Amino acid sequence: MGFAFKSLPWNVLFGSGTSMRLPGELDVLGFERPLILSTPGQAARAEHFAAMLEPRPAAIFAEAKMHTPLPTVLAALERARELGSDCTIAIGGGSTIGLGKGLALKASLPGIAIPTTYSGSEMTNIWGYQHGSKKEIGRSESVVPKLTIYDPELTLDLPLAVSGPSAFNAIAHCVVNATAVEPNPMLLPWAFEAIRELAAGLPLIAADLHDIDARRRCLFGACLAGAVIATGATTLHHKLCHVLGGAFGTPHAQTHALLLPHTVAFNEPVVPDATRRVSEALGAGDAAAGLRELGLSVGVVPSLRELGLRERDLDEVARLATAAPVNNPRAVSFENLRQLLQNVFTGELAPIDDA
Ligand code: NAD
Repeated sequence: MGFAFKSLPWNVLFGSGTSMRLPGELDVLGFERPLILSTPGQAARAEHFAAMLEPRPAAIFAEAKMHTPLPTVLAALERARELGSDCTIAIGGGSTIGLGKGLALKASLPGIAIPTTYSGSEMTNIWGYQHGSKKEIGRSESVVPKLTIYDPELTLDLPLAVSGPSAFNAIAHCVVNATAVEPNPMLLPWAFEAIRELAAGLPLIAADLHDIDARRRCLFGACLAGAVIATGATTLHHKLCHVLGGAFGTPHAQTHALLLPHTVAFNEPVVPDATRRVSEALGAGDAAAGLRELGLSVGVVPSLRELGLRERDLDEVARLATAAPVNNPRAVSFENLRQLLQNVFTGELAPIDDA
């Protein structure tokens, strides 16, 4: 058994109420003039943190958007320069954390992350922004937050419609690494623990959004899942998500959630043992069917049709996704991928052949 593993410079504080420790943590890190980032919807929370940081001159930029458009990064950068900001504090989901990463990448502005969804972006070295119709993505250690504070209390108001798909985004990070042909043994314990926590927590959140223990379990799962994708691999699943999001504008977390049962079913004949271990971690008899059932119960759309794709777009999706070789346990061709996409389009988990 051989493997390579390179850790990232993570610095994590986890637990109920930990976000109240932000002022002291800023002192420890030596930051004095933070720029607080949020989406417009989370602006009130950004205000709350700015007030908590007084008398430090904390400013707010509450215009983070999905897919991190470059003009938004540049506008935030302009604001940071005007104010002489020495760090950012991204409070929110992957979109807000992505904006913080954009500022770290473009202006070497160190970031702190306070995640309030399950995207796991705060644990990764992956940055990305939208430049016109193109999505630029890459990896750099410089975008890893200098501190991530996970406070489950801040997730109690996350609606099920965001919680469900976002948690599936995290589960996907783990499933692709758990079912790799040569899984990294360093990542397997994290991947399976994350799947267990997210799959156990989600139904409890669906029953009661304010179940703090379920929120804690999902947030811990998201933290582990972020570490898995940051140091592990991506396969066909992530490739398809990028093609659908980049070329057809489908929403990030919903796309992950919708595709996951289908990409799991696609790979199962090649990695049956690993897929069985995923089903055990999910507490389901069958991994793909279990994921689909869980997804439908927490607001995941049943088919690609529902996300606005037209059947005639599927050839183009398959063409774009197979334009370069795809890292995946099962060999991917235009033909078998087109069958997979037909299944996602109709919502049926039908068998796919390689003939
Ligand atoms: P998001 O950040 O877009 O948030 C979704 C919505 O939820 C937003 O309207 C936001 O304001 C709202 N919200 C966030 N927290 C809330 C709370 N506690 N209560 C109520 N509303 C809340 O969605 P996301 O799924 O977290 O992130 C998706 C983005 O993250 C995509 O752009 C994706 O590319 C990126 N991402 C990046 C990585 C990476 O490693 N770089 C990993 C995963 C996702």
